[in-house]
Amino acid sequence: MYIHSKENQSKLTPEIAFQYLKEGNDRFVRNLRANRNLLQQVNETRDGQYPFATILSCMDSRTSAELIFDQGLGDIFSIRIAGNVLNEDILGSMEFGSRVVGTKIVMVLGHTKCGAIVGACNNVQLGSLTQLLDKVKPAIAQETVTQNERTGKNSEFVNNVTEINVHLTIQRIKDESPIIVDLLQEGKIKIVGGVYDVDTGKVDFFED
Ligand SMILES: [Zn+2]
Repeated sequence: MYIHSKENQSKLTPEIAFQYLKEGNDRFVRNLRANRNLLQQVNETRDGQYPFATILSCMDSRTSAELIFDQGLGDIFSIRIAGNVLNEDILGSMEFGSRVVGTKIVMVLGHTKCGAIVGACNNVQLGSLTQLLDKVKPAIAQETVTQNERTGKNSEFVNNVTEINVHLTIQRIKDESPIIVDLLQEGKIKIVGGVYDVDTGKVDFFED
């Protein structure tokens, strides 16, 4: 388990940070959550934070990153928005986490049965949600395997779009953030993707 301190954060490699996420999800799935005292962690982090990961995930009530990766206070930056879509402010938050605070890994996490992805697949138009769902449309366009029933009712189609959406988001981070690209090239961070399964609690990780 990650112990917060400036020294520990500086010793951490992107690979070890990735390992922490994998081990954390493994503990979550096995119901072996680490025994941590949150109030003690309030005390430990009062003078500063040294988190190890920056995670973009969906606002879905079932996909809280701290819970599904079994992390405590001060461990991760958790950026959450419907459909785990990217915008300029979210990219800025990732740059803050990685460049300013020194997290070692950026993760983009989608999940199965995502209402935002299903909504985009159904071409839902509703207030400001319309613009948000438009950000998923490139993933729908890139899904060329499904010929029939390209709607939110087709779970295979939705799953494909979910995964493509994660890959495209990672690609956009690399295309639009010279700061993140520099950190990647210097070996200071890595970027990974994943899809959380709301049926099992398990995260499928992938590296682009
Ligand atoms: Zn969702």
